[in-house]
Amino acid sequence: MTSQQEEARNEKFGYVCRACSRCCAHKLIQVNPYEAARLARRTGQTIASFIANCTEEGGAYLKRTDDDVCIFLNEKGCSVHPDRPLVCRLYPLGRRAAPDGTEVWLKTVPHPQSEGEYTEKGTIADFIAAQGALPFMRAADEYAEWVRKADAVIQKEAEADEGEPIPNDLLDMDAAISTYCAQKGTGEPSDIEDRRKLHLEILYRQLDRFDGGDDD
Ligand code: SF4
Repeated sequence: MTSQQEEARNEKFGYVCRACSRCCAHKLIQVNPYEAARLARRTGQTIASFIANCTEEGGAYLKRTDDDVCIFLNEKGCSVHPDRPLVCRLYPLGRRAAPDGTEVWLKTVPHPQSEGEYTEKGTIADFIAAQGALPFMRAADEYAEWVRKADAVIQKEAEADEGEPIPNDLLDMDAAISTYCAQKGTGEPSDIEDRRKLHLEILYRQLDRFDGGDDD
């Protein structure tokens, strides 16, 4: 953690959730490949099925009901709570992370009927640790960095008017790992963090290939 991040996370903050679930309505809940993989496991689906059944815009956001409520909300609350995405963990905070790691924490305006309560008992660091947000923040930063690099490669290819588009199915962690391990003749890791690391390694290898390097 950088000194800027440490300082930003030392700000006084606390929030008591009263499980009114109002924060699960009227929101676009973004998902990255790590979150999609966790939610697919949680809901007993392949990632491809999860994207088809549970997301909008090809995997960008969680699907919503006709009443504009997240499809994972039921009468008992969040049905995927242990694997809920980062934005749900951080609510009512918002996090902006710059490419150099600089963090800005925002306090969102709560739903007018929200039963949650802001306090100053603790710090932002305490809150994000209690929400289990750290692995999700790391994954979000790592995938965002890959996307920035992929964008630069795509831009370069477009300017040169050559090359093939980077395939979308690379963002399906299970498909990418399954293909890679079958080619290498190795077993697949089962731990989700090991899979995230391997997936990013595969994505960077592919990017090198599209950028004119070798793909071994
Ligand atoms: S994933 Fe869970 S916490 Fe997040 S919006 Fe959906 S129901 Fe709410």
